[in-house]
Amino acid sequence: MAKQITYGKFLLIECTAGELMNAVGSNICICDWCGKPFLPSDKGVYIAVLNHWYCWDSFLQWYADAEWYPQDVDVERKNFEFYAPRLGVKCQ
Ligand SMILES: [Zn+2]
Repeated sequence: MAKQITYGKFLLIECTAGELMNAVGSNICICDWCGKPFLPSDKGVYIAVLNHWYCWDSFLQWYADAEWYPQDVDVERKNFEFYAPRLGVKCQ
């Protein structure tokens, strides 16, 4: 079950590869960081500011160095509001 998660100021949705595949109408789900394909039952994180889905290992690597920039907030919010309802997450 997809849900919003909190790491710093980023808008993030934890969801399985399968939930993302349904949301975007894709048959495969590849982590945008490590490039590995994942099973529909594998969990990862949709990162609205990047419009990317990362597996958890990659997400934690990315987050260790990630910085949140106020100028990205508009695109981040737009991506989040597009994906959240498709993933069954309520916008906050
Ligand atoms: Zn990965």
